Amino acid sequence: MSKERNLDTAFFGQPRGLSTLFFTEMWERFSYYGMRAILLFYMYYAIKDGGLGINQTTAASIMSIYGSLVYLSGVVGGWLSDRVWGARRTVLIGGILIMFGHIALSLPFGIPALFASIALIVVGTGLLKPNVSEMVGGLYSPEDRRRDAGFSMFVFGINLGAAVAPWAVPAAASGFGLWHGNNFHAGFSLAAIGMFFALIQYVIGGRKYLSDASLYPQDPIEKSELNKVITRAVIGVVAIAIILALLAVLGQLSIANIINLITIIAIALPIYYFVIMLTSKKVTKTEKSRVVAYIPLFIAAAIFWGIEESGSVVLALFAEQRTVLHIGGWHFAAANFQTLNPLFIMILTPVFVTLWSKWKNQPSAPGKFAAGLVFAGLSYLFMALPALIHGTTAGRVSPFWLVGSWFIVEIGEMLVSPIGLSVTTRLAPKTYKSQMMSMWFMADAAGQAVNAQIVKFYSSSTEVPYFLAVGFVSVVFGIILMFMVKKIHGLMAGID
Ligand code: GLU
Ligand code: ASP
Repeated sequence: MSKERNLDTAFFGQPRGLSTLFFTEMWERFSYYGMRAILLFYMYYAIKDGGLGINQTTAASIMSIYGSLVYLSGVVGGWLSDRVWGARRTVLIGGILIMFGHIALSLPFGIPALFASIALIVVGTGLLKPNVSEMVGGLYSPEDRRRDAGFSMFVFGINLGAAVAPWAVPAAASGFGLWHGNNFHAGFSLAAIGMFFALIQYVIGGRKYLSDASLYPQDPIEKSELNKVITRAVIGVVAIAIILALLAVLGQLSIANIINLITIIAIALPIYYFVIMLTSKKVTKTEKSRVVAYIPLFIAAAIFWGIEESGSVVLALFAEQRTVLHIGGWHFAAANFQTLNPLFIMILTPVFVTLWSKWKNQPSAPGKFAAGLVFAGLSYLFMALPALIHGTTAGRVSPFWLVGSWFIVEIGEMLVSPIGLSVTTRLAPKTYKSQMMSMWFMADAAGQAVNAQIVKFYSSSTEVPYFLAVGFVSVVFGIILMFMVKKIHGLMAGID
């Protein structure tokens, strides 16, 4: 059969399998971002207001470390798919765990349910997210030129789910106007239903439209390796158990210290990966040079994601405590602001796709990253303005400050996120392909792990120095990166 006759174009010119993965990931992200939009408030609102009454600083720190863990666990998910279960089964198991995670929060079991939910969603997302993306890549043969467009559509699906959820889930929490105040459990139930839709899509569509190859691990683990792997896993688990036990004996087993421990792991793990790749005999000299080029890009990505992901923590607090929650007669909730990030992505994507296709001497990936960091920093510096102009004691300011800040950071996201995904795959040493993809998510995890520490210094009374300091670091790093562009580009050895 000729290639042309084989070409499946059933979903807007793309393979039919893309529709399955598009809708699965759209609903999964709906559940994730819908839950995140109300989770912070659920944690720190007083019990009489339907919350858990955790103090605000701890709640903000938990939000960030949770976000970090969700991307850190992708390392395990990628490995299990490659070596044990195959992508199809790994995603299914992950999806089921995520759904139970949302169900846990939909029940009135307070703090134990919160931690059970976090554990289920961290593990579930680690199993699901990297492997769904990988299956998108697997829909195309290496020479199929529709791949990039396919990924753009996939990212659009992610952001569509993420844009609708911050309206739907908070609305469910407020009973669609049926009751006063919030019943957060009703909101989390809607997130669970969203994830249920994702699973239905996936099971029915997957059977028909996803390749049989995805049913099997690509590099199945050999019996002889099994002992080594089990030993390592046991050592890891025992090491963590010993540290926790030590903390307990010393009377230091607190949420804050567990967060500190995770922060250290989230920063140490990528360093470990860099060392492994740079010392591996399986990696050639040219490949090592590319890995070195990836180090400054990784740091840049971590700073960028640190700011971007703080939208659901720091900017969410700003929305709740410092922002006028209506424009004329149109009233909205603080959680609704979470729609702005994905909304601007959907608006800006076509603009940037056109820009990159028309701009002849466009900057290389490091140049785009540098500009992305400057934009991220500016979005924070911008947020220092309302208090500098009106003072923090003046109470609430216009919602357009947040709209402006999100617009600026999303320009940065266009310069970092799609570029980063593609440059990561291209700089990957042959034998470390899937680990490099995990590295990309580890940058986000490292950024959020740092957030979990610094967010403790944020409050309405410290917002000016907070936004100025973090914004300044990002802008300065962006400028330093600009001076390093040529050098990094040289190290990339032929990749642009
Ligand atoms: N916000 C994006 C998502 O939910 C991207 C996260 C990342 O690439 O680090 O898929
Ligand atoms: N921009 C995020 C991700 O691409 C979505 C969000 O934070 O709502 O896709």
